[in-house]
Amino acid sequence: MTARNLNIDGQRLLSRLKALGEIGALEGGGVCRLALSDEDRLARDLVTSWMRELGLEVRIDRLGNIVGTRPGVEDGPPVMMGSHIDTVRTGGLYDGSLGVLAGLEVVETLNDAGIATRRPIAVAAFTNEEGARFAPDMMGSLVFEGSMSVEEAHAVTAVDDGTTVGENLARIGYEGVAPCGAPALHAFLELHIEQGPVLDEEGLVIGAVEGVQGISWTEVRVAGVSNHAGTTPMRLRHDAGYVAGATIGFVRELASLIGGDQVATVGRIELYPNLVNVVPGSCTFTVDLRNSDEECLREAEQRLHAFLDDLATREGVEITRHALARFVPTRFDEDMVRLIERSAAALGHSARRLSSGAGHDAQIIARACPAAMIFVPSHRGISHNIDEHTEPDHLVAGANVLLGTLLDLAD
Ligand SMILES: [Zn+2]
Repeated sequence: MTARNLNIDGQRLLSRLKALGEIGALEGGGVCRLALSDEDRLARDLVTSWMRELGLEVRIDRLGNIVGTRPGVEDGPPVMMGSHIDTVRTGGLYDGSLGVLAGLEVVETLNDAGIATRRPIAVAAFTNEEGARFAPDMMGSLVFEGSMSVEEAHAVTAVDDGTTVGENLARIGYEGVAPCGAPALHAFLELHIEQGPVLDEEGLVIGAVEGVQGISWTEVRVAGVSNHAGTTPMRLRHDAGYVAGATIGFVRELASLIGGDQVATVGRIELYPNLVNVVPGSCTFTVDLRNSDEECLREAEQRLHAFLDDLATREGVEITRHALARFVPTRFDEDMVRLIERSAAALGHSARRLSSGAGHDAQIIARACPAAMIFVPSHRGISHNIDEHTEPDHLVAGANVLLGTLLDLAD
């Protein structure tokens, strides 16, 4: 058999996903497997036992990131596949787990067919991608890649019981000895469920992910004047509530003005004194802007700021802005995105390019080597929810595209 007409064993992949999904399973479906919990330990034990059964050399680094490596015909930096096996409190079966277990399935398929790749290949499970107990999210990949130090990560405390990452790693026996930072990788591939509605809505099977959207979060505080809603003439008002309302309308227009994949949301708003017969004297609200193009994102921010400055003058209120979060967009490697499209086409799967609205380990590893992601559809776009679902055929299709793309990269 040549590598070109290989297919993964779909049933084997699905049964591994089911077995892993039983660890931390919730009543009614879904799974709770918080990073560094007892459930995380059991999941790690299972995944590393599978890695060893497949003949992978397993290395665990000081933050508990797990990497299993299969040697190539030649030495050198490996092509890595991977994702995470921790979940949020009400997670689904496939968020993260699919990328790790599809990597193992690719390895087993190559083992069964007796195929050696030129470059080594590796499968990674990164610690604490979700950030549900320990901030920041994507902690494992940040430390693995070198943007965050091991010491800083070890000192992070849990939001619930105040214990540290270091204590929990020691408790579950997953503080390894392999060093972190500046990994030598030929390329990184992450298969993941979309967690959005695009592929499902358009009836497509594969997403070739071009990048991860940049995020800009701003908190806006408005100081106006509280006054009687009946006796204050409209021309004499300094209405903080009006500023919030006008901004909600404005960001909707801003999104269509900037165009492309720009999205804009006012998601939180607090009025004071929040009474039926009082002109609001102060208000705090947030604006969430996202775009996969940094220049467009900056333009959206500038237009928002100009709008707020102008509105402050017209309404006679004071407006202050406070940046809550800012991430520049990640662009994945164009050649790798093309390889994914080609691999999908060769298998007869419908595909499109898209960008991710959610954060992923691949966007961090992209700082160290060429990287890209493969998406499969999420039913109705639902994610971080026990109703998260992807059709078995789509899970298998994604793993086959992963196999095809990996072979292109590793040979
Ligand atoms: Zn994920």
